[in-house]
Amino acid sequence: MVSRVIPVDVFDLVVFGGTGDLAQRKIIPGLYRRYWGGHIPPESCIIGAARSDLDDAGYRALAREAIIEYVAEDKRDPEIIEAFLARLSYVAIDAKGTGGWDKLKARVRKGTVRAFYFSVAPSLFGDLAERLHLHGIANPESRIVVEKPFGRDLESAKALNAVLAQHFTEAQIYRIDHYLGKETVQNLMAVRFANILFEPLWKSEYVDHVQITVAETVSVDGRGSYYDRAGAMRDMVQNHMMQLLCLIAMEPPYHFDPDAVRDEKLKVIRALDPVSPDDIVRGQYLAGNGQGSYLEHCEDPASKTESYIALKVNISNWRWKGTPFYLRTGKRLRARTSEIAITFREPPHSIFDDAEGWRENVLVIRLQPNEGMNLKVMIKEPGPGGMRLTQVPLDMSFAEALGESGADIPDAYERLIMDVIRGNQTLFMRGDEVEAAWSWTDPIIEGWEERGDKPMPYDAGSSGPEDALMLMHRDGRRWREIRE
Ligand code: NAD
Repeated sequence: MVSRVIPVDVFDLVVFGGTGDLAQRKIIPGLYRRYWGGHIPPESCIIGAARSDLDDAGYRALAREAIIEYVAEDKRDPEIIEAFLARLSYVAIDAKGTGGWDKLKARVRKGTVRAFYFSVAPSLFGDLAERLHLHGIANPESRIVVEKPFGRDLESAKALNAVLAQHFTEAQIYRIDHYLGKETVQNLMAVRFANILFEPLWKSEYVDHVQITVAETVSVDGRGSYYDRAGAMRDMVQNHMMQLLCLIAMEPPYHFDPDAVRDEKLKVIRALDPVSPDDIVRGQYLAGNGQGSYLEHCEDPASKTESYIALKVNISNWRWKGTPFYLRTGKRLRARTSEIAITFREPPHSIFDDAEGWRENVLVIRLQPNEGMNLKVMIKEPGPGGMRLTQVPLDMSFAEALGESGADIPDAYERLIMDVIRGNQTLFMRGDEVEAAWSWTDPIIEGWEERGDKPMPYDAGSSGPEDALMLMHRDGRRWREIRE
């Protein structure tokens, strides 16, 4: 199966923070891959803008290094690289200063899609938005892309929204959550709403519980003091995991349209119950395998910030009342894996005597590694030994099932940037969605801060703190094993 290439319109994309880590690791290599794939018209321009004193040649050299480092060899065609680099230029600009803006204004063309990627600290978003207007660089059709973190609580998220709203309408603002750009995450919507098979069962009557796991093996070493101001709840749950939960739990939108989808997600967030302290387990990894502990990495021996969190979340609406969603995420765990597992209930009555062999149906949606789906179903154990039951996976790896085009799943960032150029906001968070997510998150965090709760230690390379196991055991359930 060959993927259909639908090029976007000619665009001018200004990457503020174009020399930074994100631009070099994700944005520039991602744009190159789309150029290589024929999605980007050759007349398009990418303009790096940052504080460093570089010229166009210097910026192209930086971009060439990024392509060599982060693009797979089979896509590194010297001719295409040169043609792509020729579309790049650079303007030295301080977001808080006055220099460089007129030069930038002269670079952006009339009649092309104009987008500004704010790949800088959120504290600079307001300065950039203001100066883009002051210098007449942004027009009513321009789009801005803003990075996470979008606030650290409701108040700061509201302030950020307000600052952006002074100069841009909601339809111009693209708040990135790169999880939404992952192939499998979008497939979640296709699986639910393009098949008749699952939707009738997609409710508490048939679903026993849902597990969402985002496990990482890496530590926070090198960015510990930054991470310590956030923790797993702010860094992963409030945004990425919340988005996954919404896509699983939302009602079918009337159309695959940005506001229709986001309206449904918002309703889910508003229906989330407050989480009781008994339903939260937080942890900090210990030293192990030659690496330091969380407390060493964050350089604060008294830190109470969590590098792991597990929580049981209930949704109070007709569809989900009685079906808990168990969320867990952490650093320095046994394996790097992200998955959603939907466990169905027992059949109402078994006609088979083999109760022991019976297992629940589970639909597992893997986000990484090996994006794909796996449905566990019961069959008869082969052989003449009577009617015994066994469970087998109906396994679908997207890479295998879709052949060449499946093996070439684009990175989330490149897909999302193409959506910005197309003007499609479906996979971006709306301002009210972000604020609703913080409204749910804030009291949970305030609760443990007021109580002075200390995270439980857990072994590096383990599945997290022991207490997290109990969170499910006491409900007669168990976590799925964390493995690649
Ligand atoms: P970085 O520190 O590596 O780069 C920051 C960039 O901003 C540099 O190009 C720098 O020159 C520029 N800059 C700094 N101050 C400036 C100013 N006053 N005026 C103009 N430019 C200025 O940061 P990063 O890791 O690339 O992160 C950029 C944004 O993306 C941040 O909001 C971050 O939270 C977010 N983000 C990054 C990652 C990642 O993997 N790096 C992941 C998710 C979100």
